Amino acid sequence: MSAAVSQSAGNTSLVGQRWVGRDDRHHRQPGQASKHTEPELLVRRELHRLGFRFRLHRRDLPGSPDLVLPRHRLCIFVNGCFWHRHSGCIRASIPKTNRLFWESKFEKNKERDARAYSELSLRGWRAVVIWECEARNPRRLQAALLRILPPGECSE
Ligand SMILES: [Zn+2]
Repeated sequence: MSAAVSQSAGNTSLVGQRWVGRDDRHHRQPGQASKHTEPELLVRRELHRLGFRFRLHRRDLPGSPDLVLPRHRLCIFVNGCFWHRHSGCIRASIPKTNRLFWESKFEKNKERDARAYSELSLRGWRAVVIWECEARNPRRLQAALLRILPPGECSE
């Protein structure tokens, strides 16, 4: 099966995320609103440049990882800092209104993430996260990919 990467950004909205945007004046987060977010496109572009082949949104895998490198048994999640609660990140603030609502929502997101990562691990996949704020900063993205990718290997 070819792993050719399509650059087209089809907008597959996630059902059940319609309430996103209710309070997005200060917290406009593309995180889960779309399966093809800008941070994800940035990561895809960089991986492509480095010569890695990958597949997108394998729905047959737990958590439907954003990027999958089958040969390396590697799943990459490009996570929005707000929705997935990037610890210590300025983008992961809690909205002042409806605090309980947000906290329970975030808790569920974190649990869902943790479950997906551990299920992947049980199936022999390595699950890694690249945060939105890393993806948006070329230097940090480089560092993150260096940390994640197999050393000295630039193509499949
Ligand atoms: Zn962050």
